[in-house]
Amino acid sequence: MGAVAIYPGSFDPPTLGHVSLVERGLAVFDRIIVAVAKNPLKGALFSVDERVELLRESLAERFPDGRIEIDRFEGLTVDYARRKGAAAILRGLRATSDFEFEFRMAMMNRHLEKDIHSVFLMADHRWFFISSSTVKEAASLGADVSDLVPEPVARRLRSKYPPEPREG
Ligand code: ADP
Repeated sequence: MGAVAIYPGSFDPPTLGHVSLVERGLAVFDRIIVAVAKNPLKGALFSVDERVELLRESLAERFPDGRIEIDRFEGLTVDYARRKGAAAILRGLRATSDFEFEFRMAMMNRHLEKDIHSVFLMADHRWFFISSSTVKEAASLGADVSDLVPEPVARRLRSKYPPEPREG
């Protein structure tokens, strides 16, 4: 059995930054379990079911060889990782903004479960400044974000927020 990582996150919605991270993760791990965290404290645009479905539609075509699993979980990430037999928690780092938060979370996870390692990768530089929240905000104001998200996500965003003609 090869090394398995879980890649936990909100994925509200999945972006090409997330896809890039999975692609790079597969160069390091044999299998990646992309897991939508159910976090009632975060007001989400898409339900957990919708996010799981969007991840399936977005990742299955690109990575068809059974090395990707899409799942959901509640509770502590380290408990979920242990249940899944994962050796690592995969997270992404963007230009400067993520470090402090990710560092604190990795420290806590290590305190809780020293045998599960946090592994950080960077997405391709094209996605350094892309986040689900900026994508959501721009789409909600009528912007076309189709070059920042997988096609199934672009479709869902268009149906939620019909694009508006821009002035100028
Ligand atoms: P969370 O609410 O857990 O941060 P996100 O869906 O926002 O969930 O992000 C999940 C993980 O993916 C985080 O580690 C985040 O840093 C990483 N990530 C998100 N977007 C990008 C990106 N454009 N480039 C690199 N990593 C990213």
